[in-house]
This record gives sequence, structure tokens and C-alpha cells, in this order.
Amino acid sequence: MKRFAAALLLGLLGTATGVAQAAKPAGLRLYVLDCGTISPMDPALFSLKKEEIQGDASFVSPCYLIVHPKGTLLWDVGQVPDADIPDDGTEVARGILKATRRLSTQLAALGYQTRDIGFLAMSHYHADHTANANRYAGSTWIVQQAEYDAMFSTAQLGIRTPESYKDLQGARRITLNGTDHDVFGDGTVVIKSAPGHTPGHQMLFLKLRHFGPLLLMGDLYHLPEERSLDRVPTFDFDAAVTRATRKQVEAFVHKAKAQAWIQHDPATYGPLKKAPAFYD
Ligand SMILES: [Zn+2]
Repeated sequence: MKRFAAALLLGLLGTATGVAQAAKPAGLRLYVLDCGTISPMDPALFSLKKEEIQGDASFVSPCYLIVHPKGTLLWDVGQVPDADIPDDGTEVARGILKATRRLSTQLAALGYQTRDIGFLAMSHYHADHTANANRYAGSTWIVQQAEYDAMFSTAQLGIRTPESYKDLQGARRITLNGTDHDVFGDGTVVIKSAPGHTPGHQMLFLKLRHFGPLLLMGDLYHLPEERSLDRVPTFDFDAAVTRATRKQVEAFVHKAKAQAWIQHDPATYGPLKKAPAFYD
């Protein structure tokens, strides 16, 4: 009875403080979150001509929350730090990187506070994927060794904002050596090694019960025409490795009969269900 009273009191407190509490789902869920947009870029960066692409080479930058009965994984953490976003619907721009919504606010609306994020993984270290990494330094970080080495190297590397992820250096960590990693041990949430764009670029494979198999491809491609016309961005770490990875990935996608999302592609992102709706 005492326990019941305590639970009731906690429940009331929870309501009073307005903190949403997420219930544990019975199965896997994927939430698509809005982490901003990127202004139009020169298609030549992606080894494409203007007349070869649909649209204007502007991007979206989603973040994703994966909720599994055994825990949570945050995949990519945005391009403008939450602290720089007013969160009143005003768009803020940091160069070509723009955002209107804080990642933490979107997670809180789903019932997840920072401490509720068990695992953090990013497709790669480029600035449009790491903005809020420090906030999740209390989570277990899943990273490829080659990516870790590049992130904390003192060499001159482009498209990197070490300030945004410096706290990860001391985070609990699962380090992979060019290998895949089954996050919850049941094959439904798998980090897949996909080097080339950066030394330790990785992707996320999900087995959703209703939606089916889904691959979040990170930046293996940015524009769909990279895929259809076989072009590699000029700024990839190792173009030959990218091509080899792409070959393996396409074979995997075919065999797994998976849908594959190009994360930055506005045409892919547009029709997707956005949080609080989810895929399961
Ligand atoms: Zn990117």
C-alpha cells in the first residue's frame, strides 16, 4: 500500500512538473526528428553538374531516436547546438547550417530526457551531424576506431567542429574496428561499418516489425544522383573506399530487401512520418 502511495505521489509530481514520461514500447520504434536544413550548395562538390540534379542541392538534416524495449539510441545529433536555437520557431543560421528546433526539446516532447538516452552514435564526425554531442556524453558512445582517431587528431581536417564533441573523449564507449555492432543483441538495431566518406563512417540498419527492414545510410550518398550516376563527392576521405563500400551496401540492401534512406535528401525526407508519429 505504501509503495502504491509512493507511486501515486511520484505520478502526481511528474504531472505537476510537466515532465513527460515515455512508456516502454513492446517493440522497436523509430522517430524522425527535425535537426534543420542546409542552404543550396554547388553540385560540383558532389561531382555533379547543375543540369544533372533535381532540385537545388539544398539538404535536410534529420536526427533519429530509436526506442527498443531494452533501451534507446540517438542517431546523429544535429548541426546547430541547442543552446544557439531560440526554440520559439525562429530560424537560426550558422553559415549554411540552419535550424529552428532544439533536439532536446523534441526528445522531451516524446518523454525522453538527456539521461534517458542509453546509446549515442553518429554516422560520422562532420559538423552537420555532431552539434549536440557533448550533451550526450553520459550515454554510451558507439564509434569506429578510425573515426575516433580522426575526431581527436590534431591534423587539419575539414568540416569538423571538435568543440561540439570534445566531452565524448571521456564517455563510456563501444569502439568498433571496421565491424558491425548489434546494439541490443537481437539483430533489430545494427550499426554497420561503411568507411570512405570519412575513415570510420557508419550506417544504421533497423528491422521494424511493420515497416520492414530499413537502412539509414548516413552520408554514403547526399544526393540521389550520386547513387544513380555513380558519383563520389570531392571531399570524401577516400573515394576508392567509398566506391567499395557502396558496392557492398547495395548488395546488402538488395539481399535484405531493405528500404534505404539518403538522410540529407529532401525528397526522401519530405513524405516521412515525423515525431511524435513513428515507424514500428
Ligand atoms: Zn552530412
